[in-house]
Amino acid sequence: MIVYKNYPLSKILYYKIGGIARYVLKIENKEDLLGALDFVKKNKIQKILPVGLGSNLLMSENFFDGAILCFSKGESSGIKLIGENLIEAFASELLDDVIKFSFENNLVGLEWAGGLPSTVGGAVRGNVGAFGGEIKDVVNTVEIVKLLDEGYSLEELTREQLEFGYRDSFIKRSKDILVVSVTFQLQKASKEELEKAKETYFAKIAYRNKNHPSGFPSCGSVFKNITKKEEVDKMLSIWEDMSELVKEKWHNKASMGYVIRRLGFAGFRIGGAEVSKKHANYIVNVDGAKFADVISIIEKIKEKFFQTFGFSPELEVEIVS
Ligand SMILES: Cc1cc2nc3c(=O)[nH]c(=O)nc-3n(C[C@H](O)[C@H](O)[C@H](O)COP(=O)(O)OP(=O)(O)OC[C@H]3O[C@@H](n4cnc5c(N)ncnc54)[C@H](O)[C@@H]3O)c2cc1C
Repeated sequence: MIVYKNYPLSKILYYKIGGIARYVLKIENKEDLLGALDFVKKNKIQKILPVGLGSNLLMSENFFDGAILCFSKGESSGIKLIGENLIEAFASELLDDVIKFSFENNLVGLEWAGGLPSTVGGAVRGNVGAFGGEIKDVVNTVEIVKLLDEGYSLEELTREQLEFGYRDSFIKRSKDILVVSVTFQLQKASKEELEKAKETYFAKIAYRNKNHPSGFPSCGSVFKNITKKEEVDKMLSIWEDMSELVKEKWHNKASMGYVIRRLGFAGFRIGGAEVSKKHANYIVNVDGAKFADVISIIEKIKEKFFQTFGFSPELEVEIVS
């Protein structure tokens, strides 16, 4: 485990926004993780925050008086085959590397996540999803560290115990759990099925490159799509013409990219942050954006959304101020 002192988080986080952290502890494997927890205990550190790629995190420029547990991809791979169709991966591994490893072993089931920037830990905690797929469908078990008043315990959670929901899980709701490793249960594929999965994987990457903003830092979708039936119905009572898109294109959800654009925000800018013209649910850091710039845009969108539909959309990005 490597310890960095007074380290700028803008260097780690995907958004390139953030302040200084008293400690950043670089974790590449289980030994590093347990070493980091000992370090935290020995130094009586009160505040810790796990971070993967930081691709879903917006942090303020305030001093972080604690330790960032920075799950980073190591030199040696933490992905292995542990059964016919079971892959185990350490939390810091990239989801993309798990997909590539699965293909090498004639396994499929994760190809919908092509191009999705995430560590394994971040992906399972937030139940990532794209193009109708969700990680919950291929998670078998998760090894966790439960932080206790004195020390910690290592436990295994089954899929049922993980209580997955839309961009949600038991781990996300419990503030004292860290993901250590995940076992994925995938499907054995024939040659044709494997080729088809690879095609899907590359098609998803191409779709993202074409339709999602690239070139500027972001944290992906800022708001969750609207999934509750009563909320979607409320929106449809105001924008009746959206009903075909909801049914035919968005799997009965309302796409926040579409909604934010229609509310007139595409290209809207405050300071160095801008609502992407390509995908309006992304707020991109176009020119040294500050935390306050992004927050101000979020507030403006929420206000207009509330005025229009009478309820507030939920945030997908996690904010640490
Ligand atoms: C360009 C772009 C496209 C995106 N597309 C999608 C998409 O299609 N679908 C989607 O669902 N998301 C998408 N996202 C959001 C993001 O990729 C996911 O939320 C991702 O899972 C975050 O993973 P991470 O490793 O970066 O986690 P981070 O952003 O570092 O952390 C996210 C949260 O997880 C916690 N965490 C991280 N590691 C651990 C761990 N080991 N144990 C416990 N908690 C942990 C952090 O404390 C934080 O609360 C996109 C983001 C970007 C920038």
